Amino acid sequence: MEPEARAILEPLGPVETSPTEVALPEDELARRVAGVEAIIPMGAHPVPERIMLAAPRLRVVGVAAVGYNLIDVGAATRRGVLVTNTPGVLTETTADMAWALMLAAARRVPEGDRFVRAGQWKGVYWSLMMGADVHGATLGVIGAGRIGKAIVRRAHGFGMRVLYSNRRRDAEAERLGATYREKADLLRESDFLVLAVPLSPETRALIGAAELRLMKRTAFLVNVARGPVVDEGALVEALRAGTIAGAGLDVFEEEPSVHPGLLALENVALTPHVGSASRATRLRMATTAAENCVAALQGQRPPHLVNPEAWPPAWLVR
Ligand code: NAP
Repeated sequence: MEPEARAILEPLGPVETSPTEVALPEDELARRVAGVEAIIPMGAHPVPERIMLAAPRLRVVGVAAVGYNLIDVGAATRRGVLVTNTPGVLTETTADMAWALMLAAARRVPEGDRFVRAGQWKGVYWSLMMGADVHGATLGVIGAGRIGKAIVRRAHGFGMRVLYSNRRRDAEAERLGATYREKADLLRESDFLVLAVPLSPETRALIGAAELRLMKRTAFLVNVARGPVVDEGALVEALRAGTIAGAGLDVFEEEPSVHPGLLALENVALTPHVGSASRATRLRMATTAAENCVAALQGQRPPHLVNPEAWPPAWLVR
């Protein structure tokens, strides 16, 4: 944990950090949280109900991320545990990553890098690694929220036509020059499809075989949302068959495993779920998570409460 975040927490009591950055086995996590009042998951650390039961004094789970799909929020609410996240502070950094993946996939950057390193480059010739233009193309964003809109703003610098699809029309997205489309129409018209929705029962497998078939054969799919939003098996089939041209993926269905079919394909750019991983943003995520926890532990409503129905918790009003 960043010293700045630790400094925010320490006045309230001792801070214990996990010995590893990867998720601890559940039994070990259960043992370690037995006496804690706050848990700050930094990275992919699931907090199921069993962990909450193992921590009878737990008051707040301060997720250091905007996505909180690894936390059993329903169980937390039932148990009077506040859940918080860090929206906003990672928006621009994650939007940058969507662009990195869009450009990398369209201009074949990872493939070119592998080619040069392997000593296969024998000269400058005309037809070498021709890619697709990003500038002037049509961008379709599914999930034009904070991150989606930051992606939309960047598209103007590339002279793109921009479409978006949410469950509801979004006046701000439209002010930014994005035009609303139903999902199927957006899939048909986009040259670059970028996913920026939260993972929910509704968005699980939002993009499967049927949706991929609607896309242009020249189109690219970019996922900076959550892996299960895309049916990875269907995506591999579509990429193999040329149903779409390529993909840029920061997130995967079974992280850190990646579908072997994806690893074997040249036309995908892969990054290990690092959408928000700039130094400055990680620091802001850590301090925001710490501030949320401090507010909760001091009996104030935390700024980024995910389960407002848990407020005020019974332990506060007693
Ligand atoms: P946000 O502001 O809440 O935006 C989410 C957008 O998705 C909203 O516009 C919402 O609009 C739309 N949406 C929700 N459900 C939908 C559905 N079923 N169909 C279509 N659109 C839907 O969230 P954000 O801050 O931009 O973050 C979005 C997600 O990005 C996070 O939840 C997280 O999982 C992911 N993320 C990933 C990384 C990474 O490292 N790769 C980093 C940060 C965030 P409506 O409510 O109108 O539908």
